[in-house]
Amino acid sequence: MKRVLYFTILFLAATSTGVVAQETIFPKGEIATTKTHTGTVWLNLLNKPDSLIDVAIATATFAPGARLNWHTHPAGQILLITEGIGYYQEKGKPVQIVHKGDIIKCSPGLPHWHGAAPESSFTYLAASTNSAKNHTVWLQPVTDEEYNSAKK
Ligand code: MN
Repeated sequence: MKRVLYFTILFLAATSTGVVAQETIFPKGEIATTKTHTGTVWLNLLNKPDSLIDVAIATATFAPGARLNWHTHPAGQILLITEGIGYYQEKGKPVQIVHKGDIIKCSPGLPHWHGAAPESSFTYLAASTNSAKNHTVWLQPVTDEEYNSAKK
């Protein structure tokens, strides 16, 4: 009986955090210190674009509930989701729930945001070309109302 209780407590402790245990393929990097997101986000630039191959590839990991501000990529960006469950929203459209294995194409210049779902961490690889003109343009934070509209 004691043993059953012990394992029940362990199970509850593991599930109550809401964090899905994850194995990361690449090191998740450092916690982002920028002011262009809500919650905790880790970033790691895996491939720096250069004159030989002009492709930036980074991995971003979000704690449950964390999300980037609204933003645009002047030359677009492709997200390849490697772990967890996340939210993605383009301006004027409903929030989409996205999962490990999904690929998202963020069109050039289109305002959008992405981040983790409330109960799951979320990791993707972000690939972008045309580095000279593809500096992210940051917009306003995602409000709780916008974020929570995914549940309705
Ligand atoms: Mn984006």
